[in-house]
Amino acid sequence: MTSLINTPEKLTDEEFESLPWILSCQKDSYQYSKEAIVKKCYELKIWNSLYSTPLESKDSNNDSSQKKKKKKKKKKSNEPKVIEPKYGILLNDTVFFPEGGGQPHDTGDIIVNDKQTIHVVNCQSFGPGSNLVLHYTHDPIPENTNVELKINVQRRFDHMIHHSSQHLITAVALNSYNRKTLSWNLAPKDKSCYVELSGELKMEDEELHLIEKDVNKCIRDNLSMLPSFYTHEEYEKNGNIRKAAKGLKLGGSPTIRVMEIDGIDINACCGTHVQQTKDLQAIKFVNTEKGKDGNTKVFYLTGERLLERSNLLERNAKEITSLITCGVDKHVENIKNLLQSQKEINRNMKNLLKSFAAMSANVANHPEFNNESSNIIYQHLPSGNSDFMKSFIREVKSSNVESIRNFEKVTIFVSVGNELSVGAFMIEGPEEVVQALGKELVTLWKAKGGGKKGRFQAKVPINVLNENNISKGQEIALKLASSGGV
Ligand SMILES: [Zn+2]
Repeated sequence: MTSLINTPEKLTDEEFESLPWILSCQKDSYQYSKEAIVKKCYELKIWNSLYSTPLESKDSNNDSSQKKKKKKKKKKSNEPKVIEPKYGILLNDTVFFPEGGGQPHDTGDIIVNDKQTIHVVNCQSFGPGSNLVLHYTHDPIPENTNVELKINVQRRFDHMIHHSSQHLITAVALNSYNRKTLSWNLAPKDKSCYVELSGELKMEDEELHLIEKDVNKCIRDNLSMLPSFYTHEEYEKNGNIRKAAKGLKLGGSPTIRVMEIDGIDINACCGTHVQQTKDLQAIKFVNTEKGKDGNTKVFYLTGERLLERSNLLERNAKEITSLITCGVDKHVENIKNLLQSQKEINRNMKNLLKSFAAMSANVANHPEFNNESSNIIYQHLPSGNSDFMKSFIREVKSSNVESIRNFEKVTIFVSVGNELSVGAFMIEGPEEVVQALGKELVTLWKAKGGGKKGRFQAKVPINVLNENNISKGQEIALKLASSGGV
């Protein structure tokens, strides 16, 4: 296998100059396959030592913080280890777009001799003019091999339409509303992309609605979006070109690739784009977020992503319609009403539990306390909650009745829950009794909790608080309170 790898040296100037400045994918973004020749095959560790180039993609799907998260997750879930590519292939030309202008890299296959399929898991551009495209693979390919390149069309097309949509939104926002594009992001497949426009904008603003309308008119008008190749001089002379605020990084490139949307925009861009705006189908703004310095990120969807979101919303709307039996136009109003009545029910329940706590705290209702030798009051409420337990303890402590003979010796024990729900208990009283009873109940009721300074509280799992277990717990409480916790 070592004979396949015969490139331990840097590229010579001649070899470097022989590679194209403008790639096939930039001449025709709809060219998804191509015959090519392998010029060099590097082991990536050799490449990285020669060119000091990080292997990590700049792809937002794959940034280092996400990698760290993934590593942590892997350890926990025992997911299969991601195998890093070992080789970097240089070709005489390529249809693989290597990442740039905010657009992520392509993936796909290199077919060797019509037989072997070698996956391209990443590709990145290097060199002063970014015209070296290194295709990352798990397997080497001998130099001078004739190969066929096939990119992942679905991934590329998704990138192409979201990138082209950004051009269109940028152009309309600038031409008609004087809003500059400050940044943009092509998010992973299940998220929305955004264009950051200058100034403040909100989803409900008429202006945003008008931009969306104009952008979709451009799609209906089926404008052409075609690349041209300018010399430096032509580029500088053309006053119609929208120049990027950060300027251009041209390296040694003799030509500048310029994208023109017929009649509305010309700017330099290295990415891949649709040729006609009809391929964008529609653009929908879905959200806004504050950007830096009072600017606005406008999130948008187009193509498949828009259809998928629309399908999801339709499915949800259908389900809500059947749950609350009203049409889509009444969903918001009816859900607001439901939430309001839920709030009222909760408030009423809270008041009822408070009242019941006050009633049940009446020592006259507690035969266990009327016994001269007992110093305990206990209460169980199957549908109670922690508010009830706190209220009960408070009410007992504040009841100023003669029958509470010696309050320092009284233990208050309250529990809530039933077999079908998670339960809980609270104890307050002399430290010895509270600790002893708490520990006994934790064992008996398989509870989790603890306490100090005369208080104990714990949660009881589901399936425990049946009548039998509750009685047993109260018997233990009575016994321990009578004996002072011994
Ligand atoms: Zn572009």
